[in-house]
Amino acid sequence: MKVAVLALQGAFAEHKQMLSRLGVPSFEIRQKRDLDKPFDGLIIPGGESTVQGKLMRELGLFEPLRERIAGGLPVFGTCAGLLLLAKKIKNDDRVHFAVMDITAVRNAYGRQLGSFYTEAEFKGIGQIPMTFIRAPYIEDVSGEAEVLATVSGHIVAAREGNQLVTAFHPELNDDLSVHKYFINMIKN
Ligand code: GLN
Repeated sequence: MKVAVLALQGAFAEHKQMLSRLGVPSFEIRQKRDLDKPFDGLIIPGGESTVQGKLMRELGLFEPLRERIAGGLPVFGTCAGLLLLAKKIKNDDRVHFAVMDITAVRNAYGRQLGSFYTEAEFKGIGQIPMTFIRAPYIEDVSGEAEVLATVSGHIVAAREGNQLVTAFHPELNDDLSVHKYFINMIKN
């Protein structure tokens, strides 16, 4: 198994570290020719969704990646990655891959509560640490999308088929369980 990590901007190195701790080989996607290598899953890291969206379009990565995700490639988007996958972003006219039946709210916690840490229940895993950085949350899921975690009444993790998103950053804590969850999604 090989997992590709989108490495244009943001917290991609931390995701690679989590995968390596799980013994899962990974490589970075930085340019179009990186897509020639085979991979079984994709991680889209946190950072700035607008920057990553712009760079993917400029580098010719956007359309090939969108096609693969729409075709069922397992994908895990954290924070900005969640925004890139969402079909709707309530406070932004731009959408990107628009493959997941969720409505996200960008920078949803405002400036004061921009960053915080908490622990909460994740369906199928249990109580896990959650670090939020200028995070979005999910206002609503529809269709096949399923809620996996909520914090203070807001949806912070969801899954739809082969797509997994978290508003928080599991790659910034020691806990490997969400990455393990994604690896199991790829295996099944
Ligand atoms: N605020 C960022 C955005 O809008 C997401 C923050 C993050 O990924 N840590 O893309």
